[in-house]
Amino acid sequence: MDLTTVATITPARTRADLAALSATVVPLAGGSELFADPRIHLTGLVDLQTLGWPALTVTPDGLEIAATCTLAELARMPAAPGWVAHPVFHQACTALYGSFKVWNVATIGGNLCTSLPAGPMICLTAALDAEVLIWRADGTDELMPAVEFVTGNTTNVLEPGDVLRSIRVPAAALAARTAYRKIALSPLGRSGAVLIGRLDTDGAFVLTVTGGTVRPVQLRYPDLPDPAALAADIARIDAWFTDAHGAADWRRAVSGLLGEEIRLELATPTLPAAPGADDESRA
Ligand SMILES: Cc1cc2nc3c(=O)[nH]c(=O)nc-3n(C[C@H](O)[C@H](O)[C@H](O)COP(=O)(O)OP(=O)(O)OC[C@H]3O[C@@H](n4cnc5c(N)ncnc54)[C@H](O)[C@@H]3O)c2cc1C
Repeated sequence: MDLTTVATITPARTRADLAALSATVVPLAGGSELFADPRIHLTGLVDLQTLGWPALTVTPDGLEIAATCTLAELARMPAAPGWVAHPVFHQACTALYGSFKVWNVATIGGNLCTSLPAGPMICLTAALDAEVLIWRADGTDELMPAVEFVTGNTTNVLEPGDVLRSIRVPAAALAARTAYRKIALSPLGRSGAVLIGRLDTDGAFVLTVTGGTVRPVQLRYPDLPDPAALAADIARIDAWFTDAHGAADWRRAVSGLLGEEIRLELATPTLPAAPGADDESRA
């Protein structure tokens, strides 16, 4: 869709170029959401892709994902040694049922900033205890837990002029086992619920509930809870909502079922690889 009130598109080259942002001049990442609806209040866009941020950077502390990294780049990222959680990156991307065209432009930052309850990158980054780095309009930097970034249905902590710079995933979460579940009312429909469980190497369990809730909700335990305790905690969540993609009571019910599936999956020890399984000469 054409944004007919937009008169300027500024390619940003440095942070100073972001000073052009305001309530009516907003960041452009992949454009897959921006160009989807009329936005007659907008007069300009500032293109973030021209900043040339490296999409994915492995650091001693874990993984830094640039806000401008696309879903396609994240989904095909190779694993580094010890990244037991690696499959969850691709799994979470599959919760966004766009074609390859959408996957190749839609960014991780754009997904977080759109802040739809069904945003799979919101679930992924919260589930991995990531931190988000925000470049505030006044020139300061702010780091905060990804789980606190989205505040409601399409609302978040950003103010006009702020930019989400990157997402930092800690090494400890990358070493954890994860289990992913998603459900939608129709096979290719928008997610009604997206849940990710994480079992840390010290036995701690974290369940992140999204999709059915207006903001991510996290349940944390020192070890795997019993089924009744988990079910009760999921039922107590107070942020369920109703829209065309599911009723609040359905979302609460399916999140209970999916949460238990995740608990059971992570309660089952993984089998060690068979001797010689990696030996290519056996092919
Ligand atoms: C077919 C299709 C299916 C989709 N399915 C889903 C789905 O299942 N779940 C879902 O959540 N979304 C879905 N979307 C919406 C959208 O594609 C995604 O949310 C996508 O990740 C947005 O990323 P983008 O880079 O294209 O963002 P853009 O369209 O460029 O920007 C989206 C918004 O975020 C702001 N923004 C972008 N980057 C930043 C940044 N770094 N800092 C500050 N503000 C920023 C923009 O100003 C704009 O307001 C779908 C879209 C399509 C077309």
